[in-house]
Amino acid sequence: MAYTVPKLTDYSSAALEKAADTLLSALKHESGAVGSPDQWKTFRDRWVARKNGIVTQINDLWLKSAPKDAKREVGQRVNELKKIVELTVDAGQKWWNTGATVGVVHLGIEVPAAALDKYAREKVGPVDITLPGVRRAIGAEHPVIKTMHEIVGVFQKLGYSVAEGPVVETDYYNFEALNFPPNHPARDTQDTLFIAGQQSKPQRERLLLRTHTSPVQIRTMEKMRPPIRIVIPGTVHRNDPPDASHSPMFHQIEGLAVDTNITFGDLKGTLDHAMKALFGSSVKTHFRPSFFPFTEPSAELYVTCFICGGSGKRGSDPCRPCKQTGWIEVLGCGMVDPNVFEFVKDNGYDPKKVSGFAFGMGVDRLALLKYGVDDLQYFFQGDVRFLEQFG
Ligand SMILES: [Zn+2]
Repeated sequence: MAYTVPKLTDYSSAALEKAADTLLSALKHESGAVGSPDQWKTFRDRWVARKNGIVTQINDLWLKSAPKDAKREVGQRVNELKKIVELTVDAGQKWWNTGATVGVVHLGIEVPAAALDKYAREKVGPVDITLPGVRRAIGAEHPVIKTMHEIVGVFQKLGYSVAEGPVVETDYYNFEALNFPPNHPARDTQDTLFIAGQQSKPQRERLLLRTHTSPVQIRTMEKMRPPIRIVIPGTVHRNDPPDASHSPMFHQIEGLAVDTNITFGDLKGTLDHAMKALFGSSVKTHFRPSFFPFTEPSAELYVTCFICGGSGKRGSDPCRPCKQTGWIEVLGCGMVDPNVFEFVKDNGYDPKKVSGFAFGMGVDRLALLKYGVDDLQYFFQGDVRFLEQFG
């Protein structure tokens, strides 16, 4: 049965709501049944014709006859319904005129976005074009990632490419192939986090969180024949409780160059150039002997302190970052141990024919020094007030 506007006897909010709902469901039903321009004209006349259209009727039957104390609420309700009816009729007209598909669902009635826009504008009044626009915060690189990109960038300019590998590694790639035999004491220095439940596997297949990015050296040499020049950025994990200078997760960048006739002179020249590119052309470098299982000989690289310029003092105060020595250790390096090449010998890395150097540095520590931050934990706590200083 077609909808007819009832006379209201009850003007309570609940009764008004119910009457409005009945009207809206009739509107929805009838607008949904419109299937041609002629049907739309009939639909339009029935709902919005000035003389006896449904909108006119609710004005007469509901608003005009409402008791004085209900007039305000009834008036608001009638206005609201009037807008929805006009909008729905308008949507049908637009649809028939343009054939455009409709985009927004409002009260279950499909309405073109433009019509909804018009409705919204009428509801909220004119748009004040002098109001400031919506400000969207712009993100920035995290200081550690920024430092990492800078370091990688220096080596990319020298012709190095970037290699990456898994964070969950096997014992073989993390230790054995890097010349840490089982039970070698150097393994103890790495405080490894092992994956649980691996005891039934042979040791070389057991999984762990990589303690350095060095496994990617082996993985890359397995895939690419010499010559190679790669840098390997990534996260590594060790069982270190978090404090001002330690974190169970941190970042490393490792480098590897292998070719025929690579010498320690190439290592020194490359790293000296890289340090000047990173910390300024006035820094001096110096190498001190060290030990790593996968390089022989091995060294630690120091640069003149870029905080105090090598004097060990800041004004009359001692320079803390370099412990007043004027030197800061930045990385470990060395010539690739021939034992490491033995593991990838079949892929062209005959230790009698090729040689190479490798180096590795902790990115987080360099970022601490570079930005003058005194606690590593700030980098990983996600406090925007701290991080936005670097944006
Ligand atoms: Zn210093």
